[in-house]
Amino acid sequence: MNDKKKIILDKTVREYMSSPVLSVDEGSTLKEVAKFMKSMKAPLILVKNKSLEYSGVVTEADFTHKVAAKGYSVKTTTVGAIMSSPIKTIKGSTIMAEANKTMRQSGIRHLLVMDNDEFVGLLSPINFFKYYEDVEEYLSDLAINDGLTGIHNRRYFDEVLKVEWKRTKREKSPLSLIMLDIDYFKKYNDTYGHQAGDESLIKVAKAISESLRRPADILARYGGEEFVIVLPNVEQKDAVKLSEKIRAEIETLKIEHRLSSISPFVTASLGVASIVPNSDLSPEVLLNKADKALYNAKIRGRNCVIVAHD
Ligand code: GH3
Ligand code: MG
Ligand code: MG
Repeated sequence: MNDKKKIILDKTVREYMSSPVLSVDEGSTLKEVAKFMKSMKAPLILVKNKSLEYSGVVTEADFTHKVAAKGYSVKTTTVGAIMSSPIKTIKGSTIMAEANKTMRQSGIRHLLVMDNDEFVGLLSPINFFKYYEDVEEYLSDLAINDGLTGIHNRRYFDEVLKVEWKRTKREKSPLSLIMLDIDYFKKYNDTYGHQAGDESLIKVAKAISESLRRPADILARYGGEEFVIVLPNVEQKDAVKLSEKIRAEIETLKIEHRLSSISPFVTASLGVASIVPNSDLSPEVLLNKADKALYNAKIRGRNCVIVAHD
């Protein structure tokens, strides 16, 4: 699974904040501060008091709103008059989703980021743009990919099957489907725990994925411990060969499964079906055939490949 996906929800303030933190003295005039902000291209700046403590924050908006409204002279008024204080802080390790909530609920738009008692950056609404972009990418990825294994999900499979059905029908070429189900997986979870179960699912997905050579072949997680592979323009005998290769690859992973009744390792059963689509049939027919073949593979003793018969 891709790392970005796995960690997007754990992204912290530290990764999105602006830094370094720029500051001016509280006694600086508005004119000096405006000039400094402009030259540094800083929309926001911290203010330090005489004891060199951060006492407030000034933003571009403070200039446009407060200075004009109150008729301050920019030459004589000091920045202390328009700054917002006190400064609110947030830890760098805070996750962005939490920071977002804090900002919304408190109505404070600029948070000073602290790490080990030091100011390391600023978090402003503008910093959320990049984060939202990352979240959006993550969500669109999630819409077609399985969150655990990173391979395609059921929804994507349903779409692909429809599209490939139509295409192969037009071309009068075969469409094959493999359904794969891990054997005694409930027992696996019971023996090694759900976390280990998840890790095995990831390994199996990877092994299947690496067995597929053609870009047109689509692997998806059908649900739970079941996988499907759509093989456009692949005849039954080649689909069977590939299934056997996948079965062997999974066995070769040698993932210990001591409570399995058929092997000391994790194994899978596979059902294969092939059809040259025509208008009298629907993709569901292919799915049902593969599903039935898989069921027969289970009955025949598991860790084997069974082909659907008409
Ligand atoms: P069979 O050989 O007949 O396929 O037996 P089985 O135990 O594999 O089948 P069953 O349908 O009884 O149980 C499937 C188990 O797969 C149930 C559940 O604990 C496990 N499972 C499903 N999805 C996940 C998942 O996302 N993570 C983990 N760790 N386990 C899962
Ligand atoms: Mg199952
Ligand atoms: Mg199973």
